[in-house]
Amino acid sequence: MQHCDTLFHAARIITQDAGRTVLDDAALAVRDGKIADAGPVAELEARWTSDERINLPNMLLMPGLVNAHTHAAMTFLRGLADDMPLMEWLQERIFPMERELTPHIVRTGSLMGFAEMLRTGCTACIDMYIFEQAVFEAAHTAGLRCLGGEVVFDFPSACCPDPRAALETTRALADAWKDDPLLRVAVCPHSVYTTSEKTLRDCARLAEELDLPLHVHLAETPAETAMSLKLHGRRPAAHADACGLLRPGAVVAHAVDVNEAELRLLAERGVRAAHNPSSNMKLASGAAPLPAMLRAGLTAALGTDGAASNNQLNMFTEMGRAALLHKLVCADPTVATAREILDAATLGGAAAFGDPALGRLEAGAAADFIALDLDSPNLRPMYNPVSHVVYAATGAEVRLTVAAGRVLYRDGRFTTFDYPALLREIDDIRDFVLRKTGTGR
Ligand SMILES: [Zn+2]
Repeated sequence: MQHCDTLFHAARIITQDAGRTVLDDAALAVRDGKIADAGPVAELEARWTSDERINLPNMLLMPGLVNAHTHAAMTFLRGLADDMPLMEWLQERIFPMERELTPHIVRTGSLMGFAEMLRTGCTACIDMYIFEQAVFEAAHTAGLRCLGGEVVFDFPSACCPDPRAALETTRALADAWKDDPLLRVAVCPHSVYTTSEKTLRDCARLAEELDLPLHVHLAETPAETAMSLKLHGRRPAAHADACGLLRPGAVVAHAVDVNEAELRLLAERGVRAAHNPSSNMKLASGAAPLPAMLRAGLTAALGTDGAASNNQLNMFTEMGRAALLHKLVCADPTVATAREILDAATLGGAAAFGDPALGRLEAGAAADFIALDLDSPNLRPMYNPVSHVVYAATGAEVRLTVAAGRVLYRDGRFTTFDYPALLREIDDIRDFVLRKTGTGR
């Protein structure tokens, strides 16, 4: 007999292993934050003793979802400005409010975002924002994984007066968090339309020097393509490539206005695409060509983007919308299958995060998983669990969220922070925003 920390016993487990095995009446043995074993409960009971046993009858275990593109702190702007075009929304509503940011607002907004993510089954996210140090502090408090970076613009942000300062902040962040097992730093130029060619090249150089991943918004709208052609004489993907941004493992958010040749280029460079269907639909940015991405061999992940343009940070919502959006756009119900969408939200997210131990539940993988209540009326009867996860679940069925073997959320309670206190803090920030915007709403 071997000994583990905790044995989790559930009715079913979607493993996302190479054979996409779904186990019935099965268990996970968790030791030191990793999955030591997974399989039928009788076999695990014969092999493992444990300090603790958590029985999850009528529950489905599955890998924690990976939110591959977000700005967690932007929960503080949720619902402040809706129903506007991207550039007007950014320039008139979002950027002016972001000039008022403080580390406290970013920390509180981020913790609110992480609470929503944990509550809806997300255990890892890829973030970029202003005062990212405060985002990392919130992620450290919440206990989920975060690959984050200080956003680099050519204009001043509330945190950094210029791109040079933003890159120095990135360097300091990477040094400050280098020993944290759950938090990793990325170099995050905002986009090709908010940064000069020199800044983009400096970003690529820093990523190379410190061996950090790179995360950038790319080809979000046809308007961005027009701006890129005007500013740089190249379409966004070609410009990003010329500046050295399309490095292996780089995450490009959106990739909406991309042609077949650009998809092949992104795939050849080993870049990951973070598809944000809700944000793209809400801002009418267009539909990223997800089926064509997959055909081109490009690794696709799913993200929520920020709460100001979604307005949820719920990966179940994102999976459902992704599956439906592409069927409608392609006039083909066979594209964006439930299997492909779940793969994007788990294994694709793991690739974007740069950690192959995420997104699957088998021996050696990270103990990042969630449990869904199969007694929820919208999940009965069940013929195909993958279908239910993508098309029927809403995230409200999540009863347990575990990252690195640690229970972060269970049965309505967050275990790592004081949620009622967080609610009071976010309401104080709402009052501050109302005073600043003078909307009186
Ligand atoms: Zn974004």
